[in-house]
Amino acid sequence: MENIERDTLEVDVLFVGAGPASLAGAFHLRQLINKHNEEHNNALGELTIAVIEKGREVGSHMISGAVMDARPLTELMPDWKERGAPVESEVTEEDVSYLTKTRKIKSPIIPPPLNNHGKYVVSLNKLIRWMAPIVEESDVMLIPEFPGASLLFDDAGKVIGVRTGDKGIGKDGEPKDNFQPGADIFAKVTVLGEGSRGSLTKKLVEKLGLDEGKNPQVYAVGVKEIWELPKGRVTPGFVMHTLGYPLPNDVFGGGFVYGMQNDLLDIGLVVGLDYQDPFTDPHRLFNEFKQHPAIAAMLEGGKMLHYGAKTIPEGGLLSQPKYYGDGFLIVGDSASFLNSQKLKGIHMAMKSGMLAAETIFEALLADKFDEAQLKAFDAKVKASYIHKELHEVRNFHQAFRHGRIWGLIESGFQVPTKGFGLLGDIHVEAGHQHMKKQHYYNRWPKQAGEFIQAEPAKCDNKLTFEKVSDVFRSGTEHDEDQPPHLKVLDTNICIERCTVEYGNPCQYFCPAAVYEPEEVEGGRRPKINFSNCVHCKTCDIMDPYQIIDWVTPEGGGGPNYINL
Ligand code: SF4
Repeated sequence: MENIERDTLEVDVLFVGAGPASLAGAFHLRQLINKHNEEHNNALGELTIAVIEKGREVGSHMISGAVMDARPLTELMPDWKERGAPVESEVTEEDVSYLTKTRKIKSPIIPPPLNNHGKYVVSLNKLIRWMAPIVEESDVMLIPEFPGASLLFDDAGKVIGVRTGDKGIGKDGEPKDNFQPGADIFAKVTVLGEGSRGSLTKKLVEKLGLDEGKNPQVYAVGVKEIWELPKGRVTPGFVMHTLGYPLPNDVFGGGFVYGMQNDLLDIGLVVGLDYQDPFTDPHRLFNEFKQHPAIAAMLEGGKMLHYGAKTIPEGGLLSQPKYYGDGFLIVGDSASFLNSQKLKGIHMAMKSGMLAAETIFEALLADKFDEAQLKAFDAKVKASYIHKELHEVRNFHQAFRHGRIWGLIESGFQVPTKGFGLLGDIHVEAGHQHMKKQHYYNRWPKQAGEFIQAEPAKCDNKLTFEKVSDVFRSGTEHDEDQPPHLKVLDTNICIERCTVEYGNPCQYFCPAAVYEPEEVEGGRRPKINFSNCVHCKTCDIMDPYQIIDWVTPEGGGGPNYINL
């Protein structure tokens, strides 16, 4: 719909995606501008800062049950405790364990990288829902239900804003009665804080080659639930991390359990998206994790309340794209600001947003928004504690490329050598390139037209749940009368090649039962139940042919996460 008239909006600074990076950035920028205007007779004048968000509310797509390093929050809002920030508890008790199928072996010491003393158990979802009104009151426009559909460029190729998604297009691609074209929002600087595998960021990185000379980004997916347990059973601030069962040796990842307030327990499993077996199913593995005797005993008598899934960019420093350019900056998960060793990204996201704000503030003073000016962001990042932290864990995820045992040895050497390890910087391939064809696992269709299928998961609906019942507890909704936001670029590949070569792994790696095998003339292809999609982006990352393109659906669609 190129030639339709669109509303336009001009702002000075536009943040895309209302996560911790953008909210911290927008709030900090407003404070810097206000202070300058107070001290210099309103020299910068009235400036507009806007944050657009695809979710139905700010916070509804936020998911990270987390142990947070509060440094940036304290820098941003020194009185966050008095303002009632919804932290669950300071970390009170820690447990690092190795799981075999039936046993839990507790480490006698907490390895230093996993020591969370002085950190806080939080729900990012609650934190962002708490921050949003504070940021809005500081005179930042928060605009939910506005997904960024495409970036706007001027003739010289400079980013000049974002076109938001159209509303009211039917599944046949035709406008409906309620059709409303998306708006063009123009800004002097556009800050992409879209989270993991941001859809605009992905296109921009490709277009400008921002990842040239870098490792491809590598990811994991976290699948989690919130449980309510009998009164008094949960210790707020309890933090447990596990290695081992149910993940095979060649799959990166581990489990986590965090104690929250009000008898809630946050439990999940992280699975590296560089596994080899195409039948790997992170959701199914999570069910197996919960069935481990030690974990099942924790959940005994409890009730599952909420579910969600999210990918985690794990590549760190060596996978960071160039995060500045003409008219734009990239922050948070979108720019790989995440410590994969400590499984912590909130503080990095916030700090990167704040450093972006300081860069933009200087750009506003200079009235210059080109790459030469915005490059200052890089120097600020490099001088900050987030860069030092990323540098020390730069090879962590890559160390596990030959499996868990080698990974533990190699990452162990990285601690005293400040990230160097045994071999220096490790270069890896994108995760989907690790996937082996199903024949490697001795899965051979016996006759033409026969499809190999994993045994369906058996769930008891008490401890273990099928994907669709879990999705129900994520609050996910999309208007079904719209074009699917999962674009399979060549369905012939699904029918002719993927069925035979990989056995349609999308049906396994998607944690929300979006892809359902359907027999069609000449073979099988996935039917796409896009309304189940929890926006985790696993399919965009892990599809072996890279033919799934996740784009933003109509504004307001997606999960409605609570407490996650
Ligand atoms: Fe995640 Fe893709 Fe499934 Fe949506 S369709 S839930 S983005 S894997």
